[in-house]
Amino acid sequence: RIGRRTVEAADMGGDLEKILLTAEQIDARLAQLAAQIDEEYRGRDLLLVGVLRGAVMTMADLSRKIRIPLEMDWMAVSSYGSGTKSSGVVRILKDLDTDIQGRNVLIVEDIIDSGLTLSWLRSNLLSRGPESVRIATTLRKPEAAKVAIDVDYVGFDIPNEFVVGYGLDYAERYRHLPFVGTLAPHVYGG
Ligand code: 5GP
Ligand code: MG
Ligand code: MG
Repeated sequence: RIGRRTVEAADMGGDLEKILLTAEQIDARLAQLAAQIDEEYRGRDLLLVGVLRGAVMTMADLSRKIRIPLEMDWMAVSSYGSGTKSSGVVRILKDLDTDIQGRNVLIVEDIIDSGLTLSWLRSNLLSRGPESVRIATTLRKPEAAKVAIDVDYVGFDIPNEFVVGYGLDYAERYRHLPFVGTLAPHVYGG
């Protein structure tokens, strides 16, 4: 029998400053969002669109809690590069394989910070003639409230700090952490 082992903050060799959200907290909150999605999309068609790569964890965990039939597709867009500041420039690196005309699209995101990526993505998808486009995200920062973007399903509103884990990276690292945390200053090369 293979024992269960989870990644701990201590495993990252002192790179983490603090844990903001535990795996258990994320799990419980996504279960609530999934129940809400079940209720609101029951009897309708549902296409989850995950935004690579950060939303992989959210997509995997949220979708497994949804009970109604659904399909999944993925897009890859770039906005941040490997740093911590938004460039405001969005490029499609990988487009959908699905024709979304007449479909109910639910964009699945890891985090909404400035909201630039998402408002761009939403209007891009809306131009393709879907029945509806809604947004689900695990995390949202205060800045996001400033742009006129309706986010239908929000896991947690978090402080305006750079976070990693649960799909979110710093220079492509820390995505695999099952929790959300902040990095110690030395990691940024300070
Ligand atoms: P926005 O366009 O809303 O400012 O940011 C979109 C993308 O920036 C997110 O999908 C994510 O990839 C990245 N991002 C924003 N805030 C954070 C953060 O606190 N940590 C990490 N690792 N990435 C972030
Ligand atoms: Mg994202
Ligand atoms: Mg990133």
